[in-house]
Amino acid sequence: MDRDRILLTPGPLTTTLRTKLAMLRDWGSWDADFNALTARVRHSLLSVVQGHDSHVVVPLQGSGTFSVEAAVATVVPRDGHVLVLDNGAYCKRAARIATLMGRRCTVLPFDEAQPVDPQALAQSLSADPSISHVVLIHCETGAGVLNPLQAVADVCQQQGRGLIVDAMSSFGALEIDARRTRFDALVAASGKCLEGVPGMGFVFIRKAVLDGCAGNSASLAMDLHDQYVYMEKTGQWRFTPPTHVVAALHEAIVQFEAEGGQPARLARYTANFRALSEGMAALGLRPFLEPAIQAPIIVTYHAPAHPAYDFKRFYAAARQYGFLLYPGKLTQLETFRVGCIGAIGPNDMRQAVDAVARALTDLGIPPGRPDA
Ligand SMILES: *Cc1c(COP(=O)(O)O)cnc(C)c1O
Repeated sequence: MDRDRILLTPGPLTTTLRTKLAMLRDWGSWDADFNALTARVRHSLLSVVQGHDSHVVVPLQGSGTFSVEAAVATVVPRDGHVLVLDNGAYCKRAARIATLMGRRCTVLPFDEAQPVDPQALAQSLSADPSISHVVLIHCETGAGVLNPLQAVADVCQQQGRGLIVDAMSSFGALEIDARRTRFDALVAASGKCLEGVPGMGFVFIRKAVLDGCAGNSASLAMDLHDQYVYMEKTGQWRFTPPTHVVAALHEAIVQFEAEGGQPARLARYTANFRALSEGMAALGLRPFLEPAIQAPIIVTYHAPAHPAYDFKRFYAAARQYGFLLYPGKLTQLETFRVGCIGAIGPNDMRQAVDAVARALTDLGIPPGRPDA
C-alpha cells in the first residue's frame, strides 16, 4: 500500500494531504497566532450557514457526541421537556443523552426507513404544551435518511418551541440557511463533511436564547455558555484546545471555500453517490432506502443473502483492496454501509465498487447474483 486506505465511513473521513500537513506544527494555546486561527474558523463556520446576524458558534473539544450532549445541557433548562423525533440510532442516542442530562424526555417514534413526519410533530406539540424543545437529526446516519429540517423548524417556530438539530453528517454538504430556518442550536463536527480531522465539535446557538442558557448545564466541561463567554472575553478556549485539529479544520475550510463551498461539496458527494449506486446495482446489491429519501452521505445496502456472506470477512477482503466499509446499524436487517463523503471523487467510488466485487468473489459469492 503506497497510500492510506480510503475511508467509506461516516467519520473519520479521508482527508487531503494539505489538511494532514497542516498538523505538522506545535501551537501554544495562549499564542495570538492560535487565537487568530480559532477566530477565523469560527467566522467561516458562521458563513457556511449565513448565521452571522442570528447565531454565535461555540467550538468544543471532543467527538461530535460531546457537542450534542453539551448542546442539550446548555440550551434546555433543567425543568425543560425534550421531544426527540426518532427514526434511527443517532436519534436514540440523543434521547439517551437528554435523559442522562436529567431532562424530561419523550420519544416520538418513526420507521427507520422513513423520514420523520412534521405533521405528527405538530400534533404532539399541540397535545403537550410542556414540551419545550424538539431534537431532530438532520441526516440519520444510521440508515442514511434525510429528514425534513425546514418543515420541522417551521412547526417548532409556529408552536413557539425550541429546536436542537444534530446536523453532524450533513453540515457543509446539505444546505442549511439560518436566515430561513430557525433553530436554537445546531451541532456539527470537524471530521465530517468539512473534511477536517476528528477531535472537535461546534454548536451554533441562536443569539436570542444565548443569555438564557447561563447556568443550565450541570456539567463544567459541557457548558457551551461558559465556553462562549470565556472565548469572547479572551479569544481562548477554556481548557486545552485540540490545537492540531483546529489547524487542520482551518486548512480544510480554506479548501472547502476554494472548491465552491456547500453547493460544490454537495455536487461532488452526489457524483460519488451516483457512481456508487450505478456500480453496486450492477453487482446486484440493493440499497435499503427509497432514492427520494436517501441523502447522498451514506448508503445502507442489504447484505447479500448468500450463505457465504459474513460482514467481518467481507470487510477484511475489501480492506485488502484499499477500502474501509462500515457495518450496518439497523435493528432487524443484515446490512452494511458505504459512505460517499470525504476527500474522494467518483473515480474512488468506482474503484470501491471494484473492490467490493473482488471481495465478494473472494468470499465465493458471485457478483451480479449476490443473493443466489
Ligand atoms: C457522526 C455523528 C455523530 C457524532 O458521532 P461521534 O462518534 O461522537 O463523532 C452524531 N450524530 C450523527 C448524525 C452523526 O452522523
